[in-house]
Amino acid sequence: MQKLKQIYEGKAKKLYETENADLLIQEFKDDATAFDATKRGTIMNKGVINNKLSEKIFGLLEKAGIPTHFEKRLNDREMLVKKVKIVPIEVTIRNIVAGGMAKLLGLEEGIILKEPVLEYHYKEDKLHDPLINDYHIKALGVATEKELETIAKYSFKINEILNKFFDSKSLILVDFKLEFGRYKGKVILADEVSPDTCRLWDKTTKEKLDKDRFRRDLGNVEEAYQEVLRRVLE
Ligand code: ADP
Ligand code: UDP
Repeated sequence: MQKLKQIYEGKAKKLYETENADLLIQEFKDDATAFDATKRGTIMNKGVINNKLSEKIFGLLEKAGIPTHFEKRLNDREMLVKKVKIVPIEVTIRNIVAGGMAKLLGLEEGIILKEPVLEYHYKEDKLHDPLINDYHIKALGVATEKELETIAKYSFKINEILNKFFDSKSLILVDFKLEFGRYKGKVILADEVSPDTCRLWDKTTKEKLDKDRFRRDLGNVEEAYQEVLRRVLE
């Protein structure tokens, strides 16, 4: 598949048109940002790792009946995906208190939630991706009630699938972020699923094996990403 014009460069990925108007090439970069992109850096080989991890996870989800944008991995850093119109909300699912939820509610990190929490953040960098609820989303026409129902249903199902999968790899899925897009009248999962977008802790030691190592200067960031890839592929 030939790579044509670059149509977008984000913080972690680039998007390119292809000769097929329905398909894009998604290229994963090593660039890392945190705290609203006020912290910037590079995680060596992150692009390669996240491309392979996302391939594995999208494959797993497709098999379980979740429609995704994934078509195929093209090489180390690139995958072919369906071109969607992104629904401008970030869906967060939390199983354990960490990060933003700990801060928002003054809670200790590590509290196991009685049931998973679903949060929506409006995807708008200028506003720092504010927390919103389903009433905001419907009232402002960001998504329809039916789309939102599908998004919530898929998100909880993805949580079940990934919880089981990561558990089998001795990893705890603390929380994660998803993005969905519209494709030919349907809502499908887009973007990526990787240690950039999931918090993953080692089941025994509770060691952080995700982007928090970068956010909090914990060291061994590349090693942690490599370890997740190793376990996921084994
Ligand atoms: P950001 O835009 O937050 O800096 P990235 O660097 O990850 O994030 O850029 C990837 C961009 O591509 C995101 O804005 C994401 O919403 C968008 N995107 C992901 N998958 C698709 C897709 N299949 N079609 C169109 N856009 C997509
Ligand atoms: N997340 C993400 N992109 C964002 C914000 C959060 O992928 O722009 C992921 C993050 O890695 C974590 C989950 O979403 O797995 C919940 O993040 P949180 O709301 O706690 O925010 P953060 O701690 O990143 O500020």
